[in-house]
Amino acid sequence: MSRPSSEASTYQSLRGQLSYLRLAAAAEALPAELERSAKDSHTAFLHRLLEVEVTATEARRHDSLERFARLPAPWRLEDFDFDAQPSVDGAMVRELASLRFLDDATNVLLVGPPGVGKTMLAVILGRAAIDAGYRTYYTTAAELAARCHKAALEGRWATTMRFFAGPRLLIVDEVGYLPLASEAAAALFQVVSQRYLKGSICLTTNLAVGSWGQAFADPMVAAAMLDRLLHRSVVFNITGESYRMRAHRARAEALRPTGAGGRGASPKSP
Ligand code: ADP
Ligand code: MG
Repeated sequence: MSRPSSEASTYQSLRGQLSYLRLAAAAEALPAELERSAKDSHTAFLHRLLEVEVTATEARRHDSLERFARLPAPWRLEDFDFDAQPSVDGAMVRELASLRFLDDATNVLLVGPPGVGKTMLAVILGRAAIDAGYRTYYTTAAELAARCHKAALEGRWATTMRFFAGPRLLIVDEVGYLPLASEAAAALFQVVSQRYLKGSICLTTNLAVGSWGQAFADPMVAAAMLDRLLHRSVVFNITGESYRMRAHRARAEALRPTGAGGRGASPKSP
């Protein structure tokens, strides 16, 4: 690079250097920061300028983690109504949201009937992981099985297995909603095996842990998979009624004329 002959050309050259180094945010902030820098030290100026670039880089990285993860909803910890779900240990959820469980590849199993907040809790943990900068990936068991099936047909099995080994947190939603044929169960088993003690899985299922054997085509595969999943794990057995049904009934009750005495409530209510 030629030696600048004046302040103006030094400035142009500096902008050129920032662009060349792909520090676009710093390049853009340069004029304003130079303006402010009259009163500051060189150190303070450079620190501020690079801070702009660091912030922009972090935002880009967060966006990219967010897109990669494909979380199905924007839920966060604050959105979860713990009072409505007494079978969920709130202190444990908060502890998990601190993400220490990722350090020793602990798995999280969310077990319970439809509508009790399993997906919501899984997404909350996924969101916390993304915000902390961890690569996270959300899939349903059915999607995972379909993807592995396609990969096997196209000769990309190994690549696909590497893909599912990659994320720091893998969320596998809705295990057991659809019966998993033996090929699909084998795919899920391999994903679980290769992540065993290496990377956390957060898995949601409507199947009680004791009934996995019957729900899978091959009970041995189911047992081996559970063995690995449970070895280092936190299990939530969520009971109670569907949050959607509860909201639905609350609306219906609010619409009912006063003095009706609450007759006609759903037969499930206590
Ligand atoms: P599941 O995966 O167990 O079938 P979801 O997590 O999809 O249930 O929850 C069903 C719906 O109810 C979602 O819209 C979710 O946001 C809401 N929901 C469930 N539990 C709670 C809760 N404790 N607080 C707030 N919303 C909840
Ligand atoms: Mg769900």
